[in-house]
Amino acid sequence: MPARQIDGKAVAAAVRERVRGEVAVFAAEAGRVPTLATVIVGEDPASEIYIRNKHRACEEVGMRSVHHGLAGATTEAELLELVAGLGRDADVDGILVQLPVPDQIDPDAVVAAIDPRKDVDGLTPLNAGLLAHGTPGLVPCTPAGVMKLLRHEGVELEGAEAVVVGRSKLVGVPVARLLLAANATVTVCHSRTRDLAATCRRADVLVAAVGVPRLLGADAVKPGAVVIDVGMNRTEAGLCGDVDFEPAAAVAAAITPVPGGVGPMTIAMLLVNTLQAARARRLATAA
Ligand code: NAP
Repeated sequence: MPARQIDGKAVAAAVRERVRGEVAVFAAEAGRVPTLATVIVGEDPASEIYIRNKHRACEEVGMRSVHHGLAGATTEAELLELVAGLGRDADVDGILVQLPVPDQIDPDAVVAAIDPRKDVDGLTPLNAGLLAHGTPGLVPCTPAGVMKLLRHEGVELEGAEAVVVGRSKLVGVPVARLLLAANATVTVCHSRTRDLAATCRRADVLVAAVGVPRLLGADAVKPGAVVIDVGMNRTEAGLCGDVDFEPAAAVAAAITPVPGGVGPMTIAMLLVNTLQAARARRLATAA
């Protein structure tokens, strides 16, 4: 029997609808709406599309968003000054600097300069440390979206074998930490893993976050596994994931498509994080 397709679009739509209601309540109580500030340096068409989508999503749930588009020649010092200013701005709840940044700028320095209370991407050392410590603050959006999909599908994580392919700070490592926090037995694979397919085949829950089109085929999927494909790879044939969908779907119990799986969850969780940051700041101000 072919795998059930996990409908990320539908789950994301439900999350956005819930956030819309909660934003209205926040606005009535606080007398202002949660606000996301985005920053892009240079002109990268893909980044501009991502940012436009994020602004549209904010608008749809009643949040305010402001954008700072900086010239490609912006220096690191100039960007750090802007980020620090957004940190001090009482009207801004969330700060998102779209990566990658041009070569003259150290992305780690920029991320570290973001006020952790407004770090809606969950990438600052403080938020990464809180996640590692088991007391999460703001959690990176894509990993949070992966967990939301698994919970929505009713996947039993307690004691499950989970394999995460990819160990980036943005996706692989935080997904692994969240799965561990949910009491799964977690293995993290990467480019030096010896027998990738055999390791993946152990997984009740397989999460692919690699960036290599169709890397994982049917031989990497345990019969009955749940497969979450984070990969978004542009190929001549169009957008595809890190999992070879058709053969993997013939073996798995459930699988996310690309597009329409994890992608929509990322923006939905950005809205959740922005609302969370706005609430936390309001409570801190009231205290
Ligand atoms: P990344 O920073 O490039 O990390 C890729 C990871 O994959 C690294 O840990 C790397 O291992 C590992 N890897 C590379 N080749 C491998 C191989 N042949 N076998 C096993 N592991 C291998 O990428 P990322 O930012 O995590 O993103 C991963 C994918 O998710 C990309 O396709 C990206 O576009 C997509 N993505 C999607 C969303 C979404 O909203 N759906 C959000 C973010 C990212 P090493 O550490 O050993 O180099």
